[in-house]
Amino acid sequence: MSRKRILVVEDNEDNRRILLYRLRKIGDFEIVETANGAEAVAAVEESPPDLIFMDLKMPVMDGWEATRRIRALEQGRDIPIIALTAQAMAGDEQKALANGCNDYLAKPVVDPSLVREKLERLLKFS
Ligand SMILES: [Mg+2]
Repeated sequence: MSRKRILVVEDNEDNRRILLYRLRKIGDFEIVETANGAEAVAAVEESPPDLIFMDLKMPVMDGWEATRRIRALEQGRDIPIIALTAQAMAGDEQKALANGCNDYLAKPVVDPSLVREKLERLLKFS
């Protein structure tokens, strides 16, 4: 079985590092990092990942617009997207689900079992 590729889209380097640390504890994934939505859309066009973690608030292109554009791509239509939500932004969880995301995760991502549960469900890795 080939390694699953995960695209992490997050402009905050600390948040990105925390999430990457969790992911590396969970499995041997190929991880691609991008810092804004425009880079994420380009990455999906070039080589679609198996799953995406999408920050919502980013410079250049935010996660809402990036999700919309990825969903409009043939190769991006069915990729599981987990929105990374900030605790201060109440309501983003439901808004993310209504706008093309499959699930959400509150930042900072500190609970490894929660991440594992979401990955097992959406990525079907073993
Ligand atoms: Mg951000």
